[in-house]
Amino acid sequence: MFLCILILSQMPALSIAQKERFIERFMQMNSFVVPNSINQTMELINHIRELKKEKDAILLSHYYMPAELQILEEEGGVADFVGDSLGLSLEAVKASGKNIIFCGVRFMAETAAILNPSKKVLIPDMEAGCSLASGISAQDVIGLKQKYPGVPVIAYINTYAETKAECDIICTSRNALKIAQSFPNDRLIFVPDEFMGKNLREVIYKETGKELIVWNAKCEVHEQFTKTTIHQLMESNPEAEVLVHWEVPDEAVKESLSKGKGIVGSTSDIISYVSKSDATEFILGSECDLGATLRGLYKDKIFITPCVKCPYMKKINLQNTLDALMAIGTKDEERYLVKVPEPTRTRAELPLRRMLEFS
Ligand code: SF4
Repeated sequence: MFLCILILSQMPALSIAQKERFIERFMQMNSFVVPNSINQTMELINHIRELKKEKDAILLSHYYMPAELQILEEEGGVADFVGDSLGLSLEAVKASGKNIIFCGVRFMAETAAILNPSKKVLIPDMEAGCSLASGISAQDVIGLKQKYPGVPVIAYINTYAETKAECDIICTSRNALKIAQSFPNDRLIFVPDEFMGKNLREVIYKETGKELIVWNAKCEVHEQFTKTTIHQLMESNPEAEVLVHWEVPDEAVKESLSKGKGIVGSTSDIISYVSKSDATEFILGSECDLGATLRGLYKDKIFITPCVKCPYMKKINLQNTLDALMAIGTKDEERYLVKVPEPTRTRAELPLRRMLEFS
């Protein structure tokens, strides 16, 4: 409490209630706070909130963003919406402002640009890539289609626009199963995530008898959750249920579910699973800052999070978010503007819109 009072007394012009709400949320999501950094944080937040209004911008933020970018505007933060890839795509379609600041990685911002050709989409750091998206090219998909003629290609949303343009439909970890099940074909191609493909392959084969041909790219964050890591965490926390993302290696997923509890699923599946579970402790097999999201949502539960951070997501911070906002309407704007050439955009929009019909 003393710490809170000290911090509040030194802060710039947010209302006291907004500051209190922000600090409460921030402390809930993080296990400790350094007073100097929270003062700087509040100054940046104040500035971003003002500029969002001035520049008619909305700010979309992914669950893997640091806690300070996941706090909503009504909680004293800067985000208008926080979600997973699918949630952010849906929100991008509904976006009301003239400009979208996308706090996530580049393929996500590109998706927003594909679905919103009349709006400017800006990403605070163009170098925010993704090992999955860069693990497959448009040419690779063309090669797969030549090798397996007539077999539909389902692409995970973690792909760049040129790759999406060559695919039949896009999916996210939330709707992948439903989409795969909807095809009448006996065989399907799934790109680019090898582990997610393998995890899905088993489920799809069991339920429909369909064969899934998978590509070999990997998420460099989720591949670190090996069977051994999960096993050791389960041994040290025997009461905890394990929450793992679809992108985790198939052997580790089997280990995680070996006690008949826990879940493999999308980020949203993981979040909603916790709300329904009676367990009080959970091991998280996903990106570190999803732990911040979960701690923010479920105050009374304990989350054991081996902190593997996505280096691409962590390129986005409050400072470069502010810089991107300041650049809107100036000659610096080009540096942040996400552009998809029109012929590619129209071709990539088609499989994306097909996905949205499943949402
Ligand atoms: S966590 Fe993995 S899939 Fe997500 S952006 Fe980072 S590298 Fe890509």
